[in-house]
Amino acid sequence: MSSKRENTHQGRIVVIEDEPDIREVVVYNLLREGFDVVAMGHGHQGLAEVQRTPPDCVLLDLMLPGLDGIEICRQIRADSRTARVPVIMVTAKGEESDVVLGLGMGADDYLTKPFSPRELIARIKAVIRRGHGQARDPDTDGPEQVEIGPLRIDAGRHDVRIFGEEQRFTATEFRLLYFLATHPGRVFSRDQLIGRVIGDGAIVLDRNIDVHIRSIRKKLGEARDMVETIRGVGYRFSEIEG
Ligand code: CA
Repeated sequence: MSSKRENTHQGRIVVIEDEPDIREVVVYNLLREGFDVVAMGHGHQGLAEVQRTPPDCVLLDLMLPGLDGIEICRQIRADSRTARVPVIMVTAKGEESDVVLGLGMGADDYLTKPFSPRELIARIKAVIRRGHGQARDPDTDGPEQVEIGPLRIDAGRHDVRIFGEEQRFTATEFRLLYFLATHPGRVFSRDQLIGRVIGDGAIVLDRNIDVHIRSIRKKLGEARDMVETIRGVGYRFSEIEG
């Protein structure tokens, strides 16, 4: 175990999980992988820890004493200091509807129990990479500035304005919006969007793309129709709003 310790400073993870056995396994595997870890078993304490020192990623159980995962996620996103911290929701089987709710609240990804340590590490590294990355498509290295109708994106600064108003997007939403907006008029299937935007072999169900798109549309407000649904196919970014 100690031989792995040179592999440090992968990032700091806050684990909010009330089941001691799962918490122990998760913490063990994260430490072994070189992450700094703080683990909490209570919702309020977990949120307080995230707010005290915003980490590189939060692993957030759904059902918790005190505050539940959905509410914690909402509060993380609502606070400018923590709004961009990647959040991975952890759920038990049969809580899929809560997953959709969690993604709607701005969670970046989710894991269903039981999950393997390997899957856990892969997901965490993926959301951290996406969060740190310039959110630009590394393959095509798109433009720094995008201006379409009322939408302005500054990719380097991760800044989005709609009718001049700043609007906050999660890392995943930002990548989706940026990708669509830099390929206006082209139709992409959900699979293509998963491959191009979510990437890294993440297992994402079709409907989760729909959840991210729904959230993006909500934030676009009056410009929401710029993201068009192409029935039976996927999505297209339209140059014309409304
Ligand atoms: Ca729980």
